[in-house]
Amino acid sequence: MGRRWGFLIGFLIAVGLLGSGHGEQQPPETAAQRCFCQVSGYLDDCTCDVETIDKFNNYRLFPRLQKLLESDYFRYYKVNLKRPCPFWNDISQCGRRDCAVKPCHSDEVPDGIKSASYKYSEEANNLIEECEQAERLGAVDESLSEETQKAVLQWTKHDDSSDNFCEADDIQSPDAEYVDLLLNPERYTGYKGPDAWKIWNVIYEENCFKPQTIKRPLNPLASGQENTFYSWLEGLCVEKRAFYRLISGLHASINVHLSARYLLQDTWLEKKWGHNITEFQQRFDGILTEGEGPRRLKNLYFLYLIELRALSKVVPFFERPDFQLFTGNKDQDAENKMLLLEILHEIKSFPLHFDENSFFAGNKKEANKLKEDFRLHFRNISRIMDCVGCLKCRLWGKLQTQGLGTALKILFSEKLIANMPESGPSYEFHLTRQEIVSLFNAFGRISTSVKELENFRNLLQSIH
Ligand code: FAD
Repeated sequence: MGRRWGFLIGFLIAVGLLGSGHGEQQPPETAAQRCFCQVSGYLDDCTCDVETIDKFNNYRLFPRLQKLLESDYFRYYKVNLKRPCPFWNDISQCGRRDCAVKPCHSDEVPDGIKSASYKYSEEANNLIEECEQAERLGAVDESLSEETQKAVLQWTKHDDSSDNFCEADDIQSPDAEYVDLLLNPERYTGYKGPDAWKIWNVIYEENCFKPQTIKRPLNPLASGQENTFYSWLEGLCVEKRAFYRLISGLHASINVHLSARYLLQDTWLEKKWGHNITEFQQRFDGILTEGEGPRRLKNLYFLYLIELRALSKVVPFFERPDFQLFTGNKDQDAENKMLLLEILHEIKSFPLHFDENSFFAGNKKEANKLKEDFRLHFRNISRIMDCVGCLKCRLWGKLQTQGLGTALKILFSEKLIANMPESGPSYEFHLTRQEIVSLFNAFGRISTSVKELENFRNLLQSIH
C-alpha cells in the first residue's frame, strides 16, 4: 500500500472515521489513544515492536542507567560552547535565564577526569602521554621502549578520524569547559519560534538528503504544503530513510523532554518543573498534528533501537580488563564498571536487536559512497549545533549528536567489524572518554523519553 494511502487511512482512523481494521475494535477516542494508538506494534524497517521496547526499557534498563549516569565519570562532560557558528553570522544568544549553563569550577571535577580527559586508565594514561610526546617530537623514537613504540603506532591508528560521524570539540581549547550535566538538566528553556525553527529547518532541508521541491509536512517556514513527502521518503534507500528517522527521533526526544520538564510555575520563591500535558498534545496528538505526532514518536523508538544495538555491539571494548571508568577513586571506579557491564549485558540480552547488516550492503563502491555521504551529512549536523542560540539547548544538542555519532561509528566501524564477534575484544577500536560519556548520556536521554511516554500515557488516561 502506498505511503499516501497509509497516511490517509491512519489519519481517518485517528479522527475516528474508519475502524481500526480489526472489526471489533472501537475507533480511538481518548486523548491518550490519540497520541499513542498509532504508536504500537512493529516499527518500519525493523523486526521490533514498541511494546517490547517499553517493557524492556522502563523496568529493566532505565533505573540502572540513571544510577550509572549519576556517577562522576558520566556527569562531567567537557564542551566548548563558544565555538562560532560556521554557517551564518547573525546568531543571537537568546538571553533567557533558563538557557544559561553553569560550567564547573576546576576544583569540582575529580583530578582523574581532568588529567585524563580522553583516556581511560592511569597506566594507559602514562603510556599514552609518553606516546603523545614522542609523536610531537615527530616520529617513533628509537630510544622508546618496544612497548611504547607499539603503543605509538596503535595510538596513531586510534586517532584516525575517518571513522568519526561527528565533528568533536577540541577539548584542549581554552574555551572548552567541564559542565556538570546533573546541575544543568535538559528541560524547557523557552527557546522557540523562528530561531529554533531555522536550526531544525537547516537540519532537515539541507542535511537529510531531501530535494528542495519536496516539502516537509507542517513546516512553519515553508508556504504551501505538498503531500509528496512520505512517498519521497518511502522511495529512498533504507539508509537515507533511516537518516531522516534518526534526526526526527532526536527532535521528538528533545520535545518530549521539554514537555515533561516544563516550567509550570515561576515565582520569586520557587520554580516548579513538571509534565505539561497540553504542550505534549500539541506536539504529538494524532489529530492536532494531522497524524505527524505518532509518526515522530515511532521515530524516537527507531533511534532507541539504533543506539541500543550500538551498545550491544561494543560490549567487548568495555569488557577489556584494562578498561576503567577512571576518575581516580579506585573503589567507586570498580563499582561503576560492574554496573556498566551489568547494563551492557542486559542490553545484549534484548531479543529483537536492529540488524545493521542491511545498511551499506550491496555494491561495495556504491555502499562506500553512501556511507561517506551519510557520515558527511551527520558531521554537518553536529556543526550546526554551534548555531543554536540557547546555550542549554546547544549543550544537550551537542552531547546528543556526539552520542548518536558515536553509536554510528560503532555500528559501521570497519575495525570493530573486523574483530567481531568471535575473536574477542578488539584492541584496534577505540573510544575517547568524551565519546563514552556522550554515548551513554545520549542513550540515557532516549531511554528517559521512552519512560516519559509511559508517564504521559498514564496522565492522559487519568484526565478522561
Ligand atoms: P519545533 O520543534 O521547533 O519544530 C519545527 C517544525 O519541525 C515543526 O513545526 C514540524 O513541522 C517539524 N517537526 C517537529 N517535530 C518533528 C519531528 N520529531 N520530526 C520531524 N519533524 C518535526 N527547547 C527547550 O525548551 N529545551 C531544550 O533543551 C531544547 N533543545 C533544543 C535543541 C536543539 C538542537 C534545537 C534546534 C531546539 C531545541 N529546543 C529546546 C527548542 C525545541 O526543540 C522547539 O524548537 C521549540 O520548542 C519550538 O517548538 P515548535 O512546536 O514550534 O516546533
